Amino acid sequence: MMDDISVDTNQEMMLDANSVGGLLWDIFGAEMTAEPTKCAHCGNQAEIGTLLAYTQGPGVVLRCSTCCKVVLRIVQTPDAVYLDARGAVYLRLRR
Ligand SMILES: [Zn+2]
Repeated sequence: MMDDISVDTNQEMMLDANSVGGLLWDIFGAEMTAEPTKCAHCGNQAEIGTLLAYTQGPGVVLRCSTCCKVVLRIVQTPDAVYLDARGAVYLRLRR
């Protein structure tokens, strides 16, 4: 498997996930940055807003602030949103 971390962890491209709060709101219909999630790779539990956001590629990638692996990947096309949440044990949506 290719190691893509060395390419993606360029500090200039890195924001925290609060910067994509509006996008998350559009997708989930709720404020998500203060909600917890759990990294499937290292088990780190943290608010979504603390994830590292990479927004320059095709779509948005949110990475764990502890192990830097991908937690969420969001790609938008004109008629759909693709959400890859394989790196999250869970996402919590407040009722
Ligand atoms: Zn992690």
